[in-house]
Amino acid sequence: MDQEERFYEKMREKGVSRRDFMRYSAYLTAAMGLSSSFAPKVAEVFAAPKQRPPVIWLHFAECTGCTESAIKTSYPWIDELIFEVLSIEYHETIMAAAGHQAEKNLFDAVEKYEGKFICIAEGAIAVEHNGVYGKTAGKTHLEIAKSVIPNALATICLGTCAAYGGIQAAKPNPGGFKSVSEALGIKTLNIPGCPPDPVNLVGTIINYIFFGRLPDLDDIGRPLFAYGETVHDKCPRRSHYEDGEFVEEFGSEEAKLGYCLYKLGCKGPDTYSNCPLRGFNDTTNWCIGAGTPCKGCVEPNFWDTMTPFYKES
Ligand code: SF4
Ligand code: SF4
Repeated sequence: MDQEERFYEKMREKGVSRRDFMRYSAYLTAAMGLSSSFAPKVAEVFAAPKQRPPVIWLHFAECTGCTESAIKTSYPWIDELIFEVLSIEYHETIMAAAGHQAEKNLFDAVEKYEGKFICIAEGAIAVEHNGVYGKTAGKTHLEIAKSVIPNALATICLGTCAAYGGIQAAKPNPGGFKSVSEALGIKTLNIPGCPPDPVNLVGTIINYIFFGRLPDLDDIGRPLFAYGETVHDKCPRRSHYEDGEFVEEFGSEEAKLGYCLYKLGCKGPDTYSNCPLRGFNDTTNWCIGAGTPCKGCVEPNFWDTMTPFYKES
């Protein structure tokens, strides 16, 4: 049995048919902004990967919600797909090693894959007082970041905390928390969100394996395929205000989810994300679909600039 057949056999054992898997590949292909003709090739990246990039996954000051959102999808097999295409060399949440062995694994992996690994970082980094407000295993996050990240081929910041500082960097920020990019003075690829949609991470990685390069980014490091349009642009509740009047653009029949939430504080017009197209929990629902306004969670400093959340801006 070849590699591809073994993969489909494994999926079948989990109750996932080839058709289910192809549907997921088509969904991912669309999320990446590619034509549907690429779907079989995207499926191949999972079923018969030619390379599995080594990944070192670091946690700084955060709630681990980004990892949770990536590995606890509603279909258990999708998280495994992430691990089919990546070779995770270090990840504090899921690794079996603990204590000194875990620390050794980290620095062995950095040495072994120097210049070749992708670093995925979650969480902001404290820089005030030499970073003493954020530590793991006796080392500050600043020290860990400085010793690991410059050796990476590329760094992907997963979640708004790593990408832009998140809640840790909200005023008054006595610990001096910063994004990974600001703390180290480097460029990072950012997949913000609180938490981010895992399909945007998978799409970025597949893009890298597929085309041999990271996707095109906007001027604050976000992949354009996922963050190129505002939430408002594709919102099913879309409407606008004209001369102080509420105007439903789609008319009552097509505004399927009911009225626009702008007057309840929705930040969709100022927020760039594909949430309306992708949804969370494998498209089950999303903020505005559930009747709560967008809070702008993918934008820099959203805790300071987008609050109060439930007030029209
Ligand atoms: S609910 Fe928000 S994103 Fe949707 S149309 Fe209204 S303002 Fe725009
Ligand atoms: S709809 Fe807005 S608040 Fe909700 S996840 Fe998307 S960007 Fe964040």
